[in-house]
Amino acid sequence: MSDTSIRKPAIRVSFEFFPPKSPAMEESLWNAVQRLAPLSPAFVSVTYGAGGSTRERTHHTVSRILQETALAPAAHLTCVDASREEVDEVVRQYRQTGVRHFVALRGDSQNGAGADFVARADGYRNGAELTAGLKSIDPDFEISVSAYPEKHPESPDFATDIDLLKRKVDNGATRAITQFFFDNELYERYVERVRRAGIYIPIVPGIVPIHDFTKISRFCSSIGASIPQWLAQRFEGLENDPQTRSHVAAAVCAEQVLDLTRRGVSDFHFYTMNRADLVYSICHILGLRPDAAAGVEKVEMAHEKAGL
Ligand code: FAD
Repeated sequence: MSDTSIRKPAIRVSFEFFPPKSPAMEESLWNAVQRLAPLSPAFVSVTYGAGGSTRERTHHTVSRILQETALAPAAHLTCVDASREEVDEVVRQYRQTGVRHFVALRGDSQNGAGADFVARADGYRNGAELTAGLKSIDPDFEISVSAYPEKHPESPDFATDIDLLKRKVDNGATRAITQFFFDNELYERYVERVRRAGIYIPIVPGIVPIHDFTKISRFCSSIGASIPQWLAQRFEGLENDPQTRSHVAAAVCAEQVLDLTRRGVSDFHFYTMNRADLVYSICHILGLRPDAAAGVEKVEMAHEKAGL
């Protein structure tokens, strides 16, 4: 008997964390990792602070994930404000630790997003050059790169922006993760442009659950991402009502990812902000269920050892 049911593509997720600054933040990060690990993410990534400012902390977090969990970590790496030799040395250290996947980025200078970028003569000038550098250290590295559905604010137009993405792919990137966005039409139009340019790697939408609408709005203006009017209206008047805000945030995020699945998207990258609550709920809505054996056993053992 033939199976006539329509098979939906399997949903795959990845989670992004940032390196903690204090023991208390380390504990919340680890709680989030422990909660999300059983959802069997394809990988978990750890960000690198502006200008390499979290170099040691990123390395520590990635190493801890590698040693104490069954999760596959990806280390974000930026090349701004560093020489090629300095960046290559960081890469060689990661390689020794067993890291095989990098999110290769140009990054912003320590003055933050929006500050004028000046390429160093002895440095990698963008994500495409860094991708090539990584591949020359180890051709087997897996490389993810950034993509911008609303184009990067420094790009004069979409053609220039997508041309740089093409160079990243030509140099060995096999996945692009997008800057977060709230209007799925923009994402879909961007993917169409990318495909027309002959780029066929997955363009994984970066999804940010809105824990604090005011903060996100401020951040959006610095990175050139737009906030649709309907979204602002959803959060209107909720500044002092965290409980309702969190329900609205879950509903907004669920609507966005479900709409993306209807548009054929099956891979999602969540900017977790080191919090599991909203992300876990959204993954549940996407149909993911915890696999008790996935990733978490080693975490529990590590916790026992650390007396947590
Ligand atoms: P690229 O894609 O290499 O370039 C971005 C733009 O810069 C280009 O479109 C072009 O207009 C311009 N440009 C490129 N090369 C040159 C050049 N040689 N001269 C002049 N202009 C040029 N930031 C962090 O600090 N740490 C992180 O961990 C981090 N993780 C991120 C993860 C994702 C998925 C995304 C989407 C962004 C992340 N960022 C991170 C932010 C990122 O660093 C900034 O958006 C930064 O401004 C651009 O980095 P990029 O790799 O996207 O740049």
